[in-house]
Amino acid sequence: MPAPAAVPPCRRCGRCCRLGGPALHHDDLPAIRDGRIRPEHCLTLRRGETVTDNVAGGVGPLPVELVKLRPVPGGRACLFYHDPPACAIHDTRPVECRTLSCDAPATLAALYATNRLTRADILPPGSDLAELCAHHEAETDLARLTRLCRQAAAGDEAAREAARAVARLDAALRELLPRRLGLAPQTLLFYLGRPLVESLPALRAALTIPGGLYKRRP
Ligand code: SF4
Repeated sequence: MPAPAAVPPCRRCGRCCRLGGPALHHDDLPAIRDGRIRPEHCLTLRRGETVTDNVAGGVGPLPVELVKLRPVPGGRACLFYHDPPACAIHDTRPVECRTLSCDAPATLAALYATNRLTRADILPPGSDLAELCAHHEAETDLARLTRLCRQAAAGDEAAREAARAVARLDAALRELLPRRLGLAPQTLLFYLGRPLVESLPALRAALTIPGGLYKRRP
């Protein structure tokens, strides 16, 4: 088999950093294990979440969970893209960043969907946190919630109430975990992913119909 072509060196222009942080892969586990990448640096994108795929192109539901470096608050750029504009962890940056070259984007396309990490790969098996994350994932399953939102939008009040209960559970767990387990609030984007109304825009629309969680003023 021919040797893979060398990746042209990174020019450190920051173009990819401004588009968002990389997904993490098994090659990034050592950086997670030794604390260079910590839960507060990460964002979990959940199965079924509506996302923009920068590599394949297009917007749609994510087929499988992934964990990535989170964006700066209120922005899109990678959390480690600091002022003056530069990567704060360039020498130990994740494998996607080391693989991507603006001059040869195909190098990342070959890698980006393989060996991605999920929360289950990162959290200690059987730990309270792993079980809580799995419980939250099952009870707020986004594929089921998407169906409920569609039914609620069509006027199904039972579906609206079921969606409302899921939204309440999500909010309750986000309040409970920092209080009971002493987790920093900024780690919740890793442990639970984004709040449901952010990861599933259809939920807000379903719940804003009069009688929902968010009532419109007359
Ligand atoms: S880790 Fe560094 S190189 Fe990778 S996207 Fe973030 S700032 Fe850019």
